[in-house]
Amino acid sequence: MLLSQSETLSLAIPLAIFAFVFGAIIGSFLNVVIYRIPAGRSIVRPPSSCPRCGHRLRPLELIPILSWVLQQGRCNHCGQPISARYPAIEALTGALFAVAAALRPEFPALLFIWAFIAILIALSFIDIDTYEVPDVLSYGGLALGLLAAPFIFPGGFSPALDAALMAAGLLALINGYGVLVVTRGRGNKPEGPVGLQTLYFAATVGAWLGPAAGLVAGFLNWGLNARSTRVWAAPEALTLGLALLGPLVAWLVPGWPLSAQEALRGLLIAGGGIALAGGLYWAFRSMPEEDEEEVVVLGFGDVKLAGMLGAWVGFWPFVVGMFVAVVVGAVIGLALRERKVPFVPYLALGGVVALFFGQQIINWYISYLGIG
Ligand SMILES: [Zn+2]
Repeated sequence: MLLSQSETLSLAIPLAIFAFVFGAIIGSFLNVVIYRIPAGRSIVRPPSSCPRCGHRLRPLELIPILSWVLQQGRCNHCGQPISARYPAIEALTGALFAVAAALRPEFPALLFIWAFIAILIALSFIDIDTYEVPDVLSYGGLALGLLAAPFIFPGGFSPALDAALMAAGLLALINGYGVLVVTRGRGNKPEGPVGLQTLYFAATVGAWLGPAAGLVAGFLNWGLNARSTRVWAAPEALTLGLALLGPLVAWLVPGWPLSAQEALRGLLIAGGGIALAGGLYWAFRSMPEEDEEEVVVLGFGDVKLAGMLGAWVGFWPFVVGMFVAVVVGAVIGLALRERKVPFVPYLALGGVVALFFGQQIINWYISYLGIG
């Protein structure tokens, strides 16, 4: 059924209003998530209460945005101020839900996109508060992205998984080269059974022999490490150097069995696969938090978030989003003059931009270059 323009408009406005109100309600739930997940508390029970005096909030005090405005930013019970961040997060969620409804008014795609936005808002503020990326949200978001792929991702599940691994691999390898520069080639301490050295080894094999061989090599290395007491590790300067050479050789040497594109896919998919699988392993290993040192090993939240974003938006739109994140992050970081800037909020912003406009930006860029 085709709708006339005025009919579409008359549907769009009520949908946008509904989306804003629904988003504000979800935003009020996100306030609870942001506060309780890092503290390891249930997000369902107990019901919300004033953080200052513990007064349990009644239904009238739980209306998103309005309650805060009507109570003039104070608790009804103890009169202490309530942070303006609570209504701000509710308004932000409402606004982004309305934007999503305007840009992608199809069901069930819109429901999934709302979930995507909600997870990104929670991850952003948790990172601002604690510099942490809870695995339940990053891996949960990745799993949901794969589930949603048939509805919102061109090509469905399999290319979404590809993109997730490639995006995670890209960020993990950028991290790796960064560390290599900072430590002047020494790299990280090897860690068993799976550590960064496993990831770089897998990426290298992937770059020379393709994605499947790279993944097999990585998991084989992991398995052998798990069975023996010592950790086999090639120097990171060697693996990371060879990893870059793979796609280059494939591109330059005529008749090379692997195309340059396949070599690049091998590098990123094998690296990202080990990064995400290893990250999951360490997430479970470090559950009891007996040894904080170990958690650092594959605990890179940015890489896990990159995996999630890749599944939702695709690899090249993810790259566009990463550029947005780096540029906006640099500008705001300079403006705030802060040394340690949480990267997750910017990556999340880049992810939302990439979801809605990534493909358009790529098309525009290609036609701008005149190769389209
Ligand atoms: Zn109170």
